[in-house]
Amino acid sequence: MYQAELIERAARFRSAGDDPTRNLSACPTLVLNADYTPLSYYPLSVWPWQTAIKAVFLDRVDIIESYDRAVHSPSLDMKVPSVIALKQYVRPSQFPAFTRFNVFLRDRFTCQYCGSGHNLTFDHVVPRRLGGRTTWENIVAACAPCNMRKGGRTPQQAKMIPALQPIRPTSWQLQQHGRCYPPNFLHETWRDWLYWDIELEE
Ligand SMILES: [Zn+2]
Repeated sequence: MYQAELIERAARFRSAGDDPTRNLSACPTLVLNADYTPLSYYPLSVWPWQTAIKAVFLDRVDIIESYDRAVHSPSLDMKVPSVIALKQYVRPSQFPAFTRFNVFLRDRFTCQYCGSGHNLTFDHVVPRRLGGRTTWENIVAACAPCNMRKGGRTPQQAKMIPALQPIRPTSWQLQQHGRCYPPNFLHETWRDWLYWDIELEE
């Protein structure tokens, strides 16, 4: 299936050289699955804008939102899409990729220590220096102040326990969380999301 291939391709932007966010002029495009119920838009991935425009011309996607920025060429004059939806539904794999984006989605974009939605970073629940691994079960969303406050301590030492036990979510669970975030919610705030969408190293 063509869309699935594109998603695969988008997911492969892992090396710094490939990473369009290193280029300040990059306008990543959030990709939503095709779905006829507006409230169940589910963010699938983030693509470089070039990939998104290509998909628009191949008639594979609908444009939901656009940046103010336009691209011009002899054959092309259009606004850069910021949110697109696939025309054909892609069944998500049962277990979603371990990406920054998906960790934030699992944790509903809130710090697991104080509930803040600002300055989100990632915290190793058991610190790396104590053998904590970079896995679904040991990474939570945490705001920068909480991350700093916890430092290299365990939750018990810091008396900072994550609100929810971090687990590896199913796609269904992430989809439920995604429903809380209609496309417009994402539009202004996720300049760096392509970075989030890069698979985390274990
Ligand atoms: Zn916090």
